[in-house]
Amino acid sequence: MQVLARVSSFNPFSTFFSHSVPVCTNLYNPQKYFKKRSLSCLMPVSPTVRTMALKFEVLGRCNRARASKLTLPHFECQTPLFMPVGTQGTIKGLTTSQLEDIGCHIILGNTYHLELRPGSELIDELGGLHNFMNWPRALLTDSGGFQMVSLLHLADITEKGVTFQNRIGADIIMALDDVVKTTVTGPRVEEAMYRTIRWIDRCIAAHRRPDEQNLFGIVQGGLDPDLRDICVKELVKRNLPGYAIGGLSGGEEKDSFWRVVAQCTAALPDDKPRYVMGVGYPLDIVVCSALGADMFDCVYPTRTARFGTALVPEGLLKLKHKVMASDMRPIDPECTCMVCKKYTRAYIHSLVTKDAMGSQLVSYHNLSYMMRFPKGDIPEWVCDAMEVACIDISTCCFPSKD
Ligand SMILES: [Zn+2]
Repeated sequence: MQVLARVSSFNPFSTFFSHSVPVCTNLYNPQKYFKKRSLSCLMPVSPTVRTMALKFEVLGRCNRARASKLTLPHFECQTPLFMPVGTQGTIKGLTTSQLEDIGCHIILGNTYHLELRPGSELIDELGGLHNFMNWPRALLTDSGGFQMVSLLHLADITEKGVTFQNRIGADIIMALDDVVKTTVTGPRVEEAMYRTIRWIDRCIAAHRRPDEQNLFGIVQGGLDPDLRDICVKELVKRNLPGYAIGGLSGGEEKDSFWRVVAQCTAALPDDKPRYVMGVGYPLDIVVCSALGADMFDCVYPTRTARFGTALVPEGLLKLKHKVMASDMRPIDPECTCMVCKKYTRAYIHSLVTKDAMGSQLVSYHNLSYMMRFPKGDIPEWVCDAMEVACIDISTCCFPSKD
């Protein structure tokens, strides 16, 4: 398909990138897209940065997109990368060796749930979460703040979140941020952004293991370019090992979503990893990668698997549907994952929502799918975002005239 061939010229999950890829000369023009002001906080370019617990090396570029080696204490990761979300030290239904087979480099743990059960003190006594769950590769933990706000006294949250994460021992730990849904407007968005900046200093002060764990700051500011700009500049001053773009995927229009990502990735340091939180759908990841983001996480592939829905090039495959009962094809005939090699849609149909094996098989396929390049029709917002990323797919975005 023509669309796929064109978009495949940018493929974040292939070996397309090489050292000889020319840097784009048609530089992104923020004035065109963010008329309110210019972005003046572009940082000097340096291909490699070393901190005590992280090394980030850009291996190749395609305009704004880059392929990098992210060396963490427990694993040498390749970006762009997708991180499955494991709430309680597990990706539901999958073993850690299956996650290695699929190609996961980092998985995400939820600090709040781990603190509830089994508790960060016990995890620490048992040698940290890597040992506890038998996961030899990298781990990232969230601050837990999102859930803790309702349960703990507000004044203690920042320090407690960092202390819990220090005990759990993940390679990357997230600073506490004040998250406001992107559909909220008005003074609450500004208040949350400034609170996030105040909290980052308390997180830095409370962080006891900077030589073993990397504290990432989170850019907030809703859909307001001015607030995002202030937040980026303040976080960059703290010289953190990496930065996240937070508060997205909260119901905003795709056209607003990609513009925030484009603004933040252009303003964050070129020599540090950039993580777009809670993203996302396969197409979102391609667009964000094209705009210069490196890391992503989302519960979607595993959550939708538990409802019997598989991700396929054409979109979604509902394995519960009765037409699947006699379908002897694999979930995706093009897929080379273990599930598609060994099992039929008919067999998985007989298991989904009835036996844990059903959601395990679909989760395995969906996570395998997320590690590869998505295919499908290209909506207009993607074409707009790709234009900013200096990737011309305009002929793919509109119906052919012949
Ligand atoms: Zn598969």
